[in-house]
Amino acid sequence: MNHILGIDVGASGIKGGVVDISTGEYIQKRIRLEMPAESTTENAGNVIAEIARHFNYSGVIGVGFPSVIKNGKVLTAANLDKSWVGCPIETFLGRKTGNRIIALNDADAAGLAEMRFGEGKNVKGTVILITIGTGLGTAVFTDGHLLRNSELGHIFLKSGMDAEKFAADSARQREDLTWRKWGKRFNEYLEQIEMLLQPQLILLGGGASKEFSEYKDRITIQTPVIPAKLLNNAGIIGAAVYAHESL
Ligand code: BGC
Repeated sequence: MNHILGIDVGASGIKGGVVDISTGEYIQKRIRLEMPAESTTENAGNVIAEIARHFNYSGVIGVGFPSVIKNGKVLTAANLDKSWVGCPIETFLGRKTGNRIIALNDADAAGLAEMRFGEGKNVKGTVILITIGTGLGTAVFTDGHLLRNSELGHIFLKSGMDAEKFAADSARQREDLTWRKWGKRFNEYLEQIEMLLQPQLILLGGGASKEFSEYKDRITIQTPVIPAKLLNNAGIIGAAVYAHESL
């Protein structure tokens, strides 16, 4: 099957598109629906089913989800309703949609897409993609291989704070920081990532990656840091690619 529906579940919206796996492009326009105010398994599950219906889609669906996903189960819910913790997501969404579901962490999905079709293509050594949105998501690759569920958005910074609470885009919005002020914080986070993993390249995805020019002069680490090429589509494309490769 060369065309696969990828769905990217985020804290504020759920996006879906049918992806041509060989090119990483959509075969028709993608859609975005709001995440319900209460992002429970039931509510979010219904939105995901609506997306599958919208495309009148009957094959396997790849789902990128903003949590640790191990052995088909959701283990964390940093920015979603806690009813998701422990949910066997693939069987649960399988029942909701009537489709086979293959799920993975959302940042891992975005990273996969970027390694296949974007700035990470053919880059050897350690590449880290950081998605900057409500949360801070990370995907770690070495020679193109993914280390799943890395969760480096939750390391503790020097201040003792969870990195996501200090340097995600939600922190910038919540505290009404300028891009420059926020950029300084984000650089502090990058310093830790560089020190711990010594990457070859760091790619930035998620909403704030579009504003890179606003804060790029605040980034002083040695490792090259560049915005991801697929921007807000990486999560959808990567979820579809992962489902395809898992078949
Ligand atoms: C979650 C990660 C997720 C990231 C981006 C974090 O709060 O713990 O699993 O990848 O947000 O959505």
